[in-house]
Amino acid sequence: MSTIREGICPQCHSREILANAETTEQDTLAVQLYEEAGVQLRGRRTFPIKAWICTHCGYTEFYVTNPQDLARSYRRSLASLA
Ligand SMILES: [Zn+2]
Repeated sequence: MSTIREGICPQCHSREILANAETTEQDTLAVQLYEEAGVQLRGRRTFPIKAWICTHCGYTEFYVTNPQDLARSYRRSLASLA
């Protein structure tokens, strides 16, 4: 099965893919985690999200840029709640 990150749209099979595009919502679209409970700013981490867009049909997928780092941060945020 082809994926949009391999350069082929899974919906329309076009190869017109805009890869690794910056996303934005004024600042940037990102996952945000708090690694320390009850702390508003300290321990806050954000993980940018990039888009892969089929410029033929508009199908779009989002990927966090560093999933392993996100997983480590998520484990820390869970531990802070324990
Ligand atoms: Zn497409």
